[in-house]
Amino acid sequence: MKKSFSIITVLITISLIGIIGIQYSWLKNVAAIRKDQIAGKVDMVEFEVVEALVDEKMQYVPQLPIDGLPKGGQEQLLEMIRPQTIAERFSVSEIQNKFEKAFETNGLKGAKFQFAVLSDANNLGPDLASPDYGKHYEMGLKDSVNYWIHVWPLVSLSGDDSKLLAPDEKLVLIIYDMQDFVMRSIGWMIGVAVLFTLIIIAAFFLTIRTILTQKKLSEMKTDFINNMTHELRTPIATISIAVDTLKNEKVIGSRDQLLAIGQIIKNENLRMNTQVEQILQAAQLDIDQVLKGKVELHVHEVMKKLQEKFALQVDEKNAIVTYSLEASDDKVLGHPVHFVNMVSNLIDNALKYAKEDMDPVIEVSTYNHKKHLVISVKDNGIGMTKETVSKIFDKFYRAHTGDVHNVKGFGLGLNYTRKMVEAHQGSIDVQSTLDKGSTFKISIPLV
Ligand code: ADP
Repeated sequence: MKKSFSIITVLITISLIGIIGIQYSWLKNVAAIRKDQIAGKVDMVEFEVVEALVDEKMQYVPQLPIDGLPKGGQEQLLEMIRPQTIAERFSVSEIQNKFEKAFETNGLKGAKFQFAVLSDANNLGPDLASPDYGKHYEMGLKDSVNYWIHVWPLVSLSGDDSKLLAPDEKLVLIIYDMQDFVMRSIGWMIGVAVLFTLIIIAAFFLTIRTILTQKKLSEMKTDFINNMTHELRTPIATISIAVDTLKNEKVIGSRDQLLAIGQIIKNENLRMNTQVEQILQAAQLDIDQVLKGKVELHVHEVMKKLQEKFALQVDEKNAIVTYSLEASDDKVLGHPVHFVNMVSNLIDNALKYAKEDMDPVIEVSTYNHKKHLVISVKDNGIGMTKETVSKIFDKFYRAHTGDVHNVKGFGLGLNYTRKMVEAHQGSIDVQSTLDKGSTFKISIPLV
């Protein structure tokens, strides 16, 4: 079980790491492909815009004065028939619109861009530029991941002669926040991949946790069965020996010995009875029956009965048990048998879990608090760690699994007590310090 559990854990962990790794590399590939696709589309955009600009520019017909050619030098004439440059012909917003439309038709709506038109003759700066062009151009020179700078010559593809008359121009397009844009376009894929990976991890942890809880439970059950077998066998063996002894002639002749053996049989029988009762109590616990069987109880009378019940055990253990019954109102609705058992378990534990080198000092007290009766059992025993305290109400839980038979029990007492407290609409609270002692408090509503 232990081995296969470790193998399962290792296998699932390896496959999880593998799946996450493969997903990461796939997503990286997808991002690269997407980037290439976008780059191709940006080329298309630029091509379309350049074509449109050049086309429109070529439609320009120079306006010559109607009253004949001006007199003057050739230069003046050339200037008059010179076609307009793109920078002269278009405004920033016109080019901006062309770009926006082209981005949209190519499926890149929302891409961030800046542009400028430069002429070869003019090396000083752009002839025309979008408002933040300068700033982004500077940044683009430094950051080639987030910025793409494209430069296209603004010339007629047909190689028209008239272009000789105009200075060559270039269109510069800067697209920025590229990484973001690529990521946004594959964002849903990343989201879905992360979501499913998280679901797999969560399922994995839930599985491991369930296996661990089941393992723990099965260990506790095995402990319980070993414990129970041992506890029941001991009195059976003792009774069997005692009965064999009864057949001895010497014993038959001695009245004292007969009585002593009878007492041993009676004691062992009682012990076995208590144990069987305890197991049955837990197994056959019918909460409905408890609820129906509630009557008005005077808790202080119950406590007096308990004091008598434990007198012998207290003597045996050399314990000092004080009862301070200070509640002014001690009337609660309780089941006559289960209510007694519920409190009895606490006193029993206080005596059982005493320190070996110290006589048990136990304070049992009652008081009223907010329309409730509180029964407190405080001991100076071995105490518990916080972790133990969080588990003591679980069925079959015993803190001393290492040396189970040292202190007898089945790990059922407190589980039963808590169920009973709930059936009585009460609450139970534990405060404990390892090596110092514990205080259990049961609070039950008053009638
Ligand atoms: P059991 O006594 O049969 O083992 P319980 O349900 O009564 O079962 O108690 C569960 C566990 O809680 C005990 O095994 C013990 O470790 C711990 N425990 C209970 N009461 C005390 C106490 N007063 N002091 C220290 N440990 C306690």
